[in-house]
Amino acid sequence: MAYVKKWEHDEKLNETEKEKLEYDGLEILKDIPTYAAGGFESIPKERWAMFKWAGLYLQKPKEDGYFMMRVNVPSGILTYEQAVTLAHIARDYGRDVFDITTRQAVQFHWLRIEEIPDIFDRLEKVGLSSTGACGDITRNIMGNPLAGIDPHETFDTRPIVEKVYQFFQNNEDFSNLPRKFKMSISSNVHNPGHAEINDIAFVPAMKEIDGERVTGFHLKVGGGLSARPFLAEELDVFVRPEEVLDVSIAVTTIFRDYGYRQKRTRARLKFLMADWGPEVFKEKLLAYTGPLPTRGESQLVGWNAGYFYGVHAQKQAGLNYVGLNVPVGRLSADEVLELARISRQYGNGELRNCNSQNLLIPHVPDEKVEGLLKESIFDRIRTNPPKFIGYAVSCTGIEYCNLALTETKERMRRIADYLDQEINLDVPVRMHMVGCPNSCGQRQIADIGLQGIKMKSKEKNGMVEAFEIYVGGTLQDGGKFNEKLKGKIDGDYLPDVLRELLQYFKDHKESEETFFAF
Ligand code: SF4
Repeated sequence: MAYVKKWEHDEKLNETEKEKLEYDGLEILKDIPTYAAGGFESIPKERWAMFKWAGLYLQKPKEDGYFMMRVNVPSGILTYEQAVTLAHIARDYGRDVFDITTRQAVQFHWLRIEEIPDIFDRLEKVGLSSTGACGDITRNIMGNPLAGIDPHETFDTRPIVEKVYQFFQNNEDFSNLPRKFKMSISSNVHNPGHAEINDIAFVPAMKEIDGERVTGFHLKVGGGLSARPFLAEELDVFVRPEEVLDVSIAVTTIFRDYGYRQKRTRARLKFLMADWGPEVFKEKLLAYTGPLPTRGESQLVGWNAGYFYGVHAQKQAGLNYVGLNVPVGRLSADEVLELARISRQYGNGELRNCNSQNLLIPHVPDEKVEGLLKESIFDRIRTNPPKFIGYAVSCTGIEYCNLALTETKERMRRIADYLDQEINLDVPVRMHMVGCPNSCGQRQIADIGLQGIKMKSKEKNGMVEAFEIYVGGTLQDGGKFNEKLKGKIDGDYLPDVLRELLQYFKDHKESEETFFAF
């Protein structure tokens, strides 16, 4: 190790921290071939949690030995070969389930340890990796899915995202962080990288330096969701594009060396930021980076929540991108193959994941748009979806997740379809469903957040799945988390309760008035 573990002799370290001192998370990569040869029974129970560093979680129930795998897709951009490889993995090993996550990554389910080496090989051949997609490490870098083709970006962020991703990938100096560490780098003026809910986020800014207008970033630090959500705080600095990696290293080092390791529930960077405040954090940062200019002018003009539906002109004349709805982020392998084929036939073969769990196809010349839109897959994967299914997000839920209290994905899809049949609105309503307080479905930033709980049945003869309802979340103008309505709703009654709520909204709203604005 090239660094001193300052926390090593802390007697109050939590159990996970003690295990990480004995066995670094990345060591699991060396052991996986042995476990694959020996089968699931050969994996000692105390190693199960370390698979996260390889992007693998045991799905529910753990004893059955099936893994969920998350694959990094920095900025959400997949080449044709990568998309096809992922589709084949879903088809060959993952029971045909291909999920797009709220951080632009891809998830598989039903994988067995014996299959993992072959899956790793296939990923490596096309430049993909699941390493660091889970665990106490830097995660997939979220960014602008339109990077490089975007009329609303201040510049192309793809090279920066790639440089930062490659630096932290498999980097043993940063594989033992106090908790997960989420990054966002985007220069799109509509904040599709959801800057405020990341541990560190670079957002577009300009500053006059020595008489020259420089395009760069502002820096937000310490955001995160889960049971105690925080919005990231902006530091008074301006970061030039060539400084992004150094600043990322500095913030990650601060987190590694000063982040809390006694209580796991206080280990995210957001708690350190809450205690230090942005001024102290800036001082610490500058001790690592040297002087940075103070804040310039923000270039953010709003928040598009990661939605890009329809056909839109790229910054390259004569080319277009087509934004598509993937209902609750789930595709079959054949659908991914078909979308990749269409992208290669009409565009350049790329598919791009959005953190709204949707997709877009870039580089479609004007004259090919009409032909593309006639492809039959767009009857389900729509370019102009209805207002509920088009804006419904869901976490994995009880189907596979060990922490889930309720079913989510299918339930969210059923409810959204039902509401689309019942209520015709002129504006979208963003609904996010999660199966527990951990917020993988980003419940806190939804217009309507639905959080699964258990409650006693009406007959008092057992527990039933139920939901708390939260309203009014946004990342517009720096952000505001949604607030809980009183009470909880039995899952069976949830569709009707939401119908009543939304019918009331429809009956009382002005034309074009959105569900929540502040
Ligand atoms: Fe599982 Fe909870 Fe995350 Fe949903 S929010 S995937 S239930 S941990």
